[in-house]
Amino acid sequence: MSAQAQHNQQFIDSFGRRIEDMRVSVIDKCNFRCTYCMPAEGLAWLRNREILTFDEIERVVRIAAERGVTQIRLTGGEPTVRKGLPDLISRLIRVPGVEEVTLTTNGFLLRRMARELADAGLTRINVSLDTLTREKFAHITRRDHLDEVLAGLEELEKHSTIRPIKVNAVAIRGFTEPEVLDFARFARRKPYVVRFIEFMPLDADESWSREQLLTGREIYEMINAVYPLVPRDTDPSSTSRVYRFADGRGEVGFINPVSEPFCSTCNRIRLTADGQLRTCLFSTWETDLRAPLRSGASDEELGRIMHGAVLRKEMKHHINDPGFVRASRSMSQIGG
Ligand code: SAM
Ligand code: SF4
Repeated sequence: MSAQAQHNQQFIDSFGRRIEDMRVSVIDKCNFRCTYCMPAEGLAWLRNREILTFDEIERVVRIAAERGVTQIRLTGGEPTVRKGLPDLISRLIRVPGVEEVTLTTNGFLLRRMARELADAGLTRINVSLDTLTREKFAHITRRDHLDEVLAGLEELEKHSTIRPIKVNAVAIRGFTEPEVLDFARFARRKPYVVRFIEFMPLDADESWSREQLLTGREIYEMINAVYPLVPRDTDPSSTSRVYRFADGRGEVGFINPVSEPFCSTCNRIRLTADGQLRTCLFSTWETDLRAPLRSGASDEELGRIMHGAVLRKEMKHHINDPGFVRASRSMSQIGG
């Protein structure tokens, strides 16, 4: 920990959770329209002046890093659509205290951008891919671009500084089951860690229902019956349970926020593209950083505002409780 980080009060919430991970959304726009995330059309975009500049993002990251945040994950919307993204990565990686800058992307632009991202200092990546079938891909993303995403993944393989390559699939009952074993074979054949994420009620269409939930446990059972799995030790704050195939060929993971919430070890906060700090994916409130950023607040003041939000971080999400209230924004607007 740097002297500066020791000097400033660390981000520890009222439940004793140390905040070390900040998800930074760099844009709300996207080149896909995944059914579980965005509406087909009609979502109003932020205006350019509403979106934080790179200088503003870097400043918020620096202040967070001085208070104990070490991991930065860039997301969106689709982060690769933000002009100059590699430049932002190389700036953030140099912020004292930041140990890693990672990216979550739909992969569409990776074939073109993988080299630039590697050169900028990106060391880890999550590529979202929910199906290996062209028709199903076109249905779920509302875009016919499976081949580009697969080509983007292959391009990543050439850049050995970006590892591991994680492929994240949102699991939806009635959609994912027929491909579970295909994904297992994909994870065995390719140098990608395939992870299944439970579908959460964060879709803009508000069509989520519990019947569509396909749990990580169910998928685990389907894979384990054919390709035996062995658990791997994971960091307690990790969102995923990771298993390797018993014969040593690859890994799969399960992110089970609905059926097995991991809120008690959550070490994350989120910054939206328009400069709102969120302490939970499911927060019904946000803390504005953009106004103080743009009206001359000092680093100390900004740090205090952020710390105030951290102290109000929710104990847990309430998806499974009666009277659950949906988040104030959908996934692409929050930054998943
Ligand atoms: N566009 C990028 C992408 O798709 O990877 C980054 C932003 S996207 C909002 C981040 C992640 O959230 C993706 O892995 C996506 O599959 C996931 N996601 C979006 N809506 C979701 C939902 N309702 N439930 C679970 N995961 C969701
Ligand atoms: Fe875009 Fe990612 Fe949302 Fe799909 S999940 S619509 S790629 S932001």
